[in-house]
Amino acid sequence: MGLNVIMMGPPGAGKGTQAGRFARERGLLKISTGDILRDGARMGLPVALRAKQLMDRGELVDDATMIAIVRERLMQPDATPGFVLDGFPRTVRQAEALDGIIAERDNGPLVVVDVRVPEQELVRRLASRLICSKCGANAEPPRDGAQPTTCAKCGGELVQRADDNEQVVRERLKVYDQRTKPLVEFYRDRATFRIVNGMQALERVAHELDTVIDDAAVSGAREMKVGAKEGAAKPAMVKTAAPGKAART
Ligand code: AMP
Repeated sequence: MGLNVIMMGPPGAGKGTQAGRFARERGLLKISTGDILRDGARMGLPVALRAKQLMDRGELVDDATMIAIVRERLMQPDATPGFVLDGFPRTVRQAEALDGIIAERDNGPLVVVDVRVPEQELVRRLASRLICSKCGANAEPPRDGAQPTTCAKCGGELVQRADDNEQVVRERLKVYDQRTKPLVEFYRDRATFRIVNGMQALERVAHELDTVIDDAAVSGAREMKVGAKEGAAKPAMVKTAAPGKAART
């Protein structure tokens, strides 16, 4: 059974870094929709070049395009052990489509982690974030106060992302509040929904993520087992009430 994870949270919450680490350590496929679009734009793909205009303004790319990209990627054999999604879903329509894809794949539960960081801190982090102009990787955090100038992975020059300037950051945070935050409501009643405090040292966040994802995966697997048994015993029965939410919010 696969381990399928959505890393949710606002821009600058550290989702990309944590999603990458978690996926590497667990042998899962990391899918960052922002990276896919940026890579596509670097390669001159028409869909990604059209998307770039929206990205540079901090707006969302249309649901149909994003759902098609993610569906195609999740159906590849390297997604079989499971995946970590970073930057998708960002709208309720994308979340509904993802539920459909998960049901189709029938390969393990969907764990949803919401990484929380206050807005003030997000603006500060995004203003100082650098990425590699060649491979797109996030720069390593500064060591002893000194910011690296070249990419640790490929040696490329580090630059600011086009959408990390303050005006676009404000727009991205507004779009997040209006379009993506409602997803918390969409997922919060699920047995596999967890919240993590992203205002801690990187290692601490990583440790908390490891713990809550494993715990949520067990809850999800248990729920699937019960669902399968009930389904076998009463084929006509529709899924009933979701588990209580108080303990997880
Ligand atoms: P990110 O790297 O996740 O911050 O994404 C950068 C930009 O790519 C976003 O501001 C959007 O313009 C676009 N984008 C990435 N993922 C999605 C998505 N799931 N839905 C719509 N737009 C997206």
